[in-house]
Amino acid sequence: MTAKVETALRGPQAYDLAKRVIEAMEAASVWPSALNFELWTHYMADPEGALGTEIGRLLAAGDTFTEATADMLAAEYLPRGRLTEEIRDAGRVLDRELSSVAEAISKAHQSQSAYGKTLEGAATSMEGVDDGPGLQTIVSSLTTATRRVQRENVTLEKKLETSTKEVAKLREHLEQVRRDAMTDALTNLANRKAFDDHLEAAVRQSEEMGTALTLAVLDIDHFKAFNDTWGHQTGDQVLRYVASVLGRVARAPRVAARYGGEEFAIIFPLENMSQVAKALEGVRKEIGSRALRRRSTNDELGAVTLSAGFAHRRANETAASLLERADTALYVSKREGRNRVTSAERIEVAA
Ligand code: GH3
Ligand code: MG
Ligand code: MG
Repeated sequence: MTAKVETALRGPQAYDLAKRVIEAMEAASVWPSALNFELWTHYMADPEGALGTEIGRLLAAGDTFTEATADMLAAEYLPRGRLTEEIRDAGRVLDRELSSVAEAISKAHQSQSAYGKTLEGAATSMEGVDDGPGLQTIVSSLTTATRRVQRENVTLEKKLETSTKEVAKLREHLEQVRRDAMTDALTNLANRKAFDDHLEAAVRQSEEMGTALTLAVLDIDHFKAFNDTWGHQTGDQVLRYVASVLGRVARAPRVAARYGGEEFAIIFPLENMSQVAKALEGVRKEIGSRALRRRSTNDELGAVTLSAGFAHRRANETAASLLERADTALYVSKREGRNRVTSAERIEVAA
């Protein structure tokens, strides 16, 4: 990240920048994905920088800003990790600011129309009294004032309505950006960051309510060899397939996530160990018995298997410790021959 972008994201103009970025993206019909938002933030904050120059060049050449373009730019210019988080946080704060703006707008709206009604009411009651020319003058000037206020109100109301719509649109964009930032692009499962958040929340809930919580980690067996034989693209298809099975099994309140390259995790709140063991055994059997074919050539690829380990949360146990015990159980599954599910409790009893 260049110093310019860093300064822009930390300074008071950060919200203004975020707004301008969204506007510019919309004007250029660029989908507001987290990655595009990040790229465009660089472009707008530091158009003279290496990335900014490159985006400017692509736009000037009239190129469409596709997902492939974004991936290419990210691979070449973006340091991973920190900036994404900062942008997401900026988005969160902007969202909060916007809610309060929307609220202020709606309050102003209410008080304006109340003011108009009061004046109108006074004018009506005074018009009923016939008490000489003096009163008539007051009445007529009051009526004129009332009409003017009413006209102003109409203009203001229109303006407020437009602003409210703009705010709603921006919120929607931000919501999309945030969803993207928490989702793994290849599999559409929760990503590592989202998983960490979910796990922390699940541990907190389990601690506060004294409820059950089990964590499973799953890893595809010999996946390097699979990639070496069939290629990375076919490997990606397999990752999508495995993710689709996990996503189907992990309906809420369960949460499935892509934890790393070919590693997945499932959070099981409120379930006992035998329910979890049964679900994992079901996943293992389903994936291991499915004869895979390569889409493009219809080549038979055989089946992939996966190994899993799971641990049931103990009283007072932290997320890190739970994760470590599930990982140890996964390691035992690997060591004992793969394509199996091991519970941390089994190893701990044996030890
Ligand atoms: P093990 O049974 O011990 O888990 O063996 P493994 O080969 O699966 O494990 P290892 O950790 O040695 O290799 C993981 C491999 O997963 C390396 C890489 O080829 C593959 N992989 C990781 N991320 C991706 C990805 O996003 N796409 C594809 N196609 N392959 C990936
Ligand atoms: Mg692995
Ligand atoms: Mg593996």
